Amino acid sequence: MERELKIIPVGGLGEVGRNMTVLSWGEERVVVDCGIGFPASGDRNGLVEQYLPDVSVLGGKPIAAVVLTHGHDDHIAALAHLIRSGCPIGKIVGLPFTIELVRAKLSEGIPMPSTSIATPGRPVTTGAFSFEFIRVSHSIPDASAVAITTPIGVVVMTGDYKFDMTIANLRRRTDKARLAELGRAGVLAVLGDSTNADEPGRTASEDTTFDPIHDLVAGAPGRVVLTSFASNVDRVDHAIRAADATGRNVSFVGRSMLRNVGIAERLGELLASSREPVPARDLESLRPRRSLVICTGSQAERNAVLARAARGEHPNLMLGKGDTVLFASRPVPGNEPDVEVLVAELVRRGCTVVTHDDAPIHVSGHARADEVEEMLTALRPRFLVPVHGEPQMQEAQARIAVARCGMDRADVVLATNGDVISLRESSIEIVDHVDVAVVEADGDGWPVDAPRPAGRR
Ligand SMILES: [Zn+2]
Ligand SMILES: [Zn+2]
Repeated sequence: MERELKIIPVGGLGEVGRNMTVLSWGEERVVVDCGIGFPASGDRNGLVEQYLPDVSVLGGKPIAAVVLTHGHDDHIAALAHLIRSGCPIGKIVGLPFTIELVRAKLSEGIPMPSTSIATPGRPVTTGAFSFEFIRVSHSIPDASAVAITTPIGVVVMTGDYKFDMTIANLRRRTDKARLAELGRAGVLAVLGDSTNADEPGRTASEDTTFDPIHDLVAGAPGRVVLTSFASNVDRVDHAIRAADATGRNVSFVGRSMLRNVGIAERLGELLASSREPVPARDLESLRPRRSLVICTGSQAERNAVLARAARGEHPNLMLGKGDTVLFASRPVPGNEPDVEVLVAELVRRGCTVVTHDDAPIHVSGHARADEVEEMLTALRPRFLVPVHGEPQMQEAQARIAVARCGMDRADVVLATNGDVISLRESSIEIVDHVDVAVVEADGDGWPVDAPRPAGRR
């Protein structure tokens, strides 16, 4: 057999989102991440709410394992699409928080492949591969890089990461010692996150958002509504602590917020111990000054809590004069116009709105240039493929590798979705290209042009 590892990025290159990579050794194939992308508003009158990776490249043939770096939708939310495509999946592997999110998302009528909950430092093996999960800082519990031992050497997928080395919660720190150990032992190739590589310096620590959130909550005259990604457990944790410190009751509103808080609590990922949360239906009985609502909808999703409240359509959350709304978030690219409209609606209702532009209540989960350098310096790879990001972000990582880490430009491969990358012990090159489409889907993840099973709306 040719001693060659084939790597095919199916999504996530030249774009933000839709991350999916296929690795194959002979007949054995594994998939790393399987996520959705987010269309800009206005596509097909809002019918298209997700972009999916083109899983037809797998031809319905078996996959030994689907390995998940973390639980964000751009890494796991296309799993249902992959399962429906008919590829038999040996197992889905990830750290506990990731697997719990997958189980919760797939529980609605999709046959669940077997899952394997990994532990950092204890590799999980398929035929030709072994996968070791290494903790990294990001913006969700259990984010990880994955070191994949193959017959020709170690390939590290960084996943989404940053180096938050001052965060109080040690489980959220990148395990730099282990990365450096791998680097000393020899890393053949790195597939590295490029998202913020084109921004200078370092991303601030998650913990820097606590004081500003606390101060805004303390100074608010009436009710406070804080919105963030439901998966950003540490941000939710800050909000709960701010409520505790200022004598407010916490209410979680929104299906995914309740679900994620429940999972985080069960797994011990939520550190704050709030008094019993007040259910949404009892919000009206609370004095506004005693209430802090944590809800979904920071991206102005039409059916999420915040957009409905702004339209006056939420049964339990009435917003108006005296209320303060904190956007502890940042619009994902493409959502900016929708978020602006939402903010305007809230202001028109009389709310005071604070966004990340007004106060430092949000930090990114992605490495900036200095941290990208830190990752590559720790891992010292022979070859690099910048992934996850628009072309200028991939290019920025390539430049860091060459100018700051001494890599040879010829050893850095700028690929696009569908490229077939051939990796050998002493070479890397793009040897072929397969056509991969962007599959448009509705909010439930069903392709809009595909026939649906009978009985669906
Ligand atoms: Zn992520
Ligand atoms: Zn991502």
